[in-house]
Amino acid sequence: MTNNTCGVAACERGSLIVLSGPSGVGKGTVCAALRRRSKELVYSVSATTRAPRAGETDGVNYFFKTKEQFQAMIERGELLEWAEYVGNFYGTPMSFVKSTIDSGRDIILEIEVQGALQVQRNFPDAVFIFLLPPSLHELRNRIVTRGTETEETIRSRMSVALEEIGLLEHYDYAIVNDEVEAACGRIEAIVTAERCRRERYIPRIKQWLEEVR
Ligand code: 5GP
Repeated sequence: MTNNTCGVAACERGSLIVLSGPSGVGKGTVCAALRRRSKELVYSVSATTRAPRAGETDGVNYFFKTKEQFQAMIERGELLEWAEYVGNFYGTPMSFVKSTIDSGRDIILEIEVQGALQVQRNFPDAVFIFLLPPSLHELRNRIVTRGTETEETIRSRMSVALEEIGLLEHYDYAIVNDEVEAACGRIEAIVTAERCRRERYIPRIKQWLEEVR
């Protein structure tokens, strides 16, 4: 998918990295660990209408909004993507992502699958990473150990997860979340590889060639 339509200026920009995957796979946990490990990456803070959980801070974990405020953000075109998930809205503020990329830094979004597909329509050059569970059995276990779900909810979340896994073909990379630190290491490897794409160096090489002409 990294259909790089990279113009000269675009090559000096940072990468937009989208980390997504089915509900329950551990995206949040992997992203939090990555945040502790990789100081070079910038992390996008999403807007959401869900209530803050214990220990969450506005502007750090999320920008907590009312439904009306969220709707106004959509109407003003401020969101790069947004989706409704389990009765709440989640979306990525556009301006921070754009300014980060323009400054040459890489930014990572941790979002659910519908939102990732929207990003793909607007930013085909972004890098899409899909987090997979080690097995369906393990995914079910993770959903169950989250706690409160009834047998029916577990079944419906598993069927949604299977549909989401079916969308893997839209992604550039797949990472099995068998162990959090190992998954982080693989994401870091992808980020490093993306930084080494030859397209990024074309402006510099063009300049070198002009200098010796
Ligand atoms: P939670 O409520 O557990 O923090 O997040 C629920 C789901 O929303 C997770 O799958 C998370 O990846 C996703 N999510 C968080 N922020 C965004 C966002 O900005 N856009 C979209 N589409 N999904 C998001």
